[in-house]
Amino acid sequence: MSAVRSLAGLLEHTAREFPEKIAVTVPGGRSVTYSQLSALSDRVRDRLVHMGVRRGDRVGLRLHKSIEAVATIFGALKAGAAYVPVDAESPAARAAYILNDCNVKVVVTERDLESELVDALGSLAASPTRLVLDVGATQPMEELLETLQRSEPAASVASVETGADDIAYILYTSGSTGKPKGVVLSHGNALSFIDWCSETFAPRADDRFSSHAPFHFDLSILDIYVSLKHGATLVLIGEELGKEPIKLAAAIAAERISVWYSTPSILSLLANYGKLAKHDFGSLRMVFFAGEVFPIPQYRALQAMWTQPQYFNLYGPTETNVCTWYEVPPDARLEQMSTFPIGRICPPNRGKVVDDRGDCVAAGESGELLVSGPNVMRGYWNLPDHNERAFLVDETGERWYRTGDIVCEEPEVGYRYVGRRDRMVKRRGYRVELGEIEAALLRNPDVREAAVIALPDPESGVRILAFVACQEERTLTRIALKAYSAQALPPYMIPDIFSVVPALPRTSTDKIDYQRLRTVA
Ligand code: AMP
Repeated sequence: MSAVRSLAGLLEHTAREFPEKIAVTVPGGRSVTYSQLSALSDRVRDRLVHMGVRRGDRVGLRLHKSIEAVATIFGALKAGAAYVPVDAESPAARAAYILNDCNVKVVVTERDLESELVDALGSLAASPTRLVLDVGATQPMEELLETLQRSEPAASVASVETGADDIAYILYTSGSTGKPKGVVLSHGNALSFIDWCSETFAPRADDRFSSHAPFHFDLSILDIYVSLKHGATLVLIGEELGKEPIKLAAAIAAERISVWYSTPSILSLLANYGKLAKHDFGSLRMVFFAGEVFPIPQYRALQAMWTQPQYFNLYGPTETNVCTWYEVPPDARLEQMSTFPIGRICPPNRGKVVDDRGDCVAAGESGELLVSGPNVMRGYWNLPDHNERAFLVDETGERWYRTGDIVCEEPEVGYRYVGRRDRMVKRRGYRVELGEIEAALLRNPDVREAAVIALPDPESGVRILAFVACQEERTLTRIALKAYSAQALPPYMIPDIFSVVPALPRTSTDKIDYQRLRTVA
């Protein structure tokens, strides 16, 4: 298995070993075996190559979570391309920006999502070729490809051999300068992480992995590839089901999920509203959580219901995938803990804690966590200035990614997360740059000034407040601002509260006085 050096190779390997095992299933819906998934992704590969996709190209995906989406991911990888998943739930304009930014050759989308995307791409004068799948229609993907084959035959081609340095996928995250930025990850980056998961968690072929996170979120990398590498079954949890705690809890039990991975927000939702006592969760072996701090009281509520699994706190920005981990000991003295540690660095990666000058801090002091090693991204797509700032190259030439997270190291447990050094916040586990919200508000021609702050919230973790001053002789209501934001931003970035003010408070140096805004909020 160690010879497999590409993500598509993982699927091919398992398809030979376990051809008849179920690879992917949808609760209450269809399933595909490994050999079927392999064959389906071959056909997508052939179609993409027929449409002009070559090694090193990008293939965009704007699809709801589905077997078709998984087959498309592998089809793109087999064609030697990098896949770029964009959120089907976010405004088409944002998707179009991303697809245009990394210049995708082909975009694969669904009939229902097609026209808004075409309009949005048209307004950018971007024109990737489209492959439109009728996901959710009665016609399975095989038949759709068959119909296409009859009208425009695509020759069967060999999968393209990709190496560790080829780009496997680009995940766009919120960008502080107002536009999403593309985190470029190679096959080598992904495989380093996947191999670490294999060694650390010893997944089994009889496991059933959840796929709760959307495919544009990096939690999906563990879900898809660790599951498929080991011949386990991936249980796809769609966007709707994923948000409804009662139905979600029932699905976890009915699907006998054994490895669960999600943000703490979802686990809290399950613990508080999922009526967990109604079901038998005896299959659950491991619960991974990542993306944000898991408040201990919420964890305790969950652990009181799910007593048997092992729990792991996984930490890492998209730029490194998971790079530190901590297993919550079964006998943890939770009442004495304020937060969970994020733990130790995942080997063979290395970490260090530095001060503002980049020098290592004294043991136990807090500073910024820097990470180097095979998990660390190649860089941001087409953003040389960001790349310059994102890395510290030390005197030996080693390249360290600056996480922007403040941590301190404790001898017993490893790193403990303290907070951020910039204006990035996590909301329901999603990364939100307050600057991106401000930039979106400022694109509204009626807005003169905008400032966005985040305040802690006991219920939801964080509350986002927007202060807006209008252009002269213009008025904007809160409702209008909310409606505008829904068109311009993904749902998790829409501010909770809008305040329309005559002017934003300024400091003596004429900068926006964020401190004052916090006090008036
Ligand atoms: P993302 O790129 O969406 O994965 O977000 C990465 C950021 O989320 C990190 O830089 C941290 O600020 C935060 N984060 C990720 N995992 C954890 C965790 N286990 N505990 C606390 N914060 C986390």
